[in-house]
Amino acid sequence: MPDPADWKPATLALHAGDGSREPGAPLGNPLVPATSFYADPDGIGFSAADLKADAPHFYVRWGNPTAAVLEARLAALEGGESCLTFASGMAAVSGLFLSKLKSGDHLVLSNICYAGVAELAHDVLPGLGIAVTTVDESDAAAVANAMRPETRLGHIETPANPLLRRADIAAVAKIAHAGGAELSVDATMATPVATRPLALGADFVVHSLTKYICGHGDALGGAVIGTADAIGTLRTSAGIHFGGVLNPFAAWLMLRGLETLPARMALHESNARAVVGFLEHHPRIGRVIWPGAASHPEYEIARRQMANFSGMISFTAKNSAALATAFGARLKLVAYAVSLGKTRSLIFYIPTEDLLRTSFHLAGAEAEKYRSLAGEGLFRLSVGLEDAGDIIADLEQGLAV
Ligand SMILES: *Cc1c(COP(=O)(O)O)cnc(C)c1O
Repeated sequence: MPDPADWKPATLALHAGDGSREPGAPLGNPLVPATSFYADPDGIGFSAADLKADAPHFYVRWGNPTAAVLEARLAALEGGESCLTFASGMAAVSGLFLSKLKSGDHLVLSNICYAGVAELAHDVLPGLGIAVTTVDESDAAAVANAMRPETRLGHIETPANPLLRRADIAAVAKIAHAGGAELSVDATMATPVATRPLALGADFVVHSLTKYICGHGDALGGAVIGTADAIGTLRTSAGIHFGGVLNPFAAWLMLRGLETLPARMALHESNARAVVGFLEHHPRIGRVIWPGAASHPEYEIARRQMANFSGMISFTAKNSAALATAFGARLKLVAYAVSLGKTRSLIFYIPTEDLLRTSFHLAGAEAEKYRSLAGEGLFRLSVGLEDAGDIIADLEQGLAV
């Protein structure tokens, strides 16, 4: 049997962090909902400063047996030393930002990313004295230009919501490090099955576990993976002090979802490939964006950096706002709903001007570039695990208006 250090993702997703194999031990990951654990009267004190990496469990917010298995498994899948799980993807991002950045610091952020992250950066961080520059992170020169002496953190998303733009993680990490900053990568859409940002030089990987890792659309969670030292510090600040940690039941659901992540990603990808083949030839459809489409200018980065092209497709269409309404009324299988990465197919329309104004605050040439790609709006399709022919037939009848 190969050493666990050599296990491939499909094996790690099922076994990394597993417990005892002694006779009588449970086969599977036990759900431990306890909020307190028997304490050593001569051991740990009451302050977060007493938390050592090898300390026994003490109080659920500090760490708990169910989350610990999930954290070990995610760290193994990402090739990182340590992981901290959070109540949501946004709790992970805000926990990382607010732990790493203080008044006077500067953040360089993708100018296209998850809307909640963009809004946090534009609407909350400046009020705390944290300066933010947004930049097209697929353009290395632009990232280098955005760096300042007080830049502490770069945060990018690849593929980035909703254009599925890809950034060269290794190139951006080099620029961040040369400027004395760290880099965090939101790899929610890629998942560790596709991309392992730490191996490419990133300091932190961030996930919304709510999406592909949970996979079934029934639990909310987030995670940050990095070095043992960095995650230890984050556990004290963002975990123990901010308190937005993952609850044990959600951690257990994530572990259950994670078991099938590699198998699901393979099917999401092959279904997406079939749907892209259909959309690219439909007269009503304009631009079709999918990391695995060779026609895309960033295909080369995707090929190099993604071992799986994921199930996310964005596309434009003639009369798209009217089509969004028609989809809502006509689709029988694909759900008109937000979110992504679930077993079920989901579609949602993202009008360009709303997003540019309220979330991205893009103007001038950057706004023009977004408009040139997204037109008046983008449909974001999260291709599920239904039969590909059934998904295509549903889209076809939905488009016949
Ligand atoms: C959904 C999402 C988030 C936020 O995660 P929640 O679990 O909904 O808080 C962050 N980044 C990306 C890329 C996402 O898709």
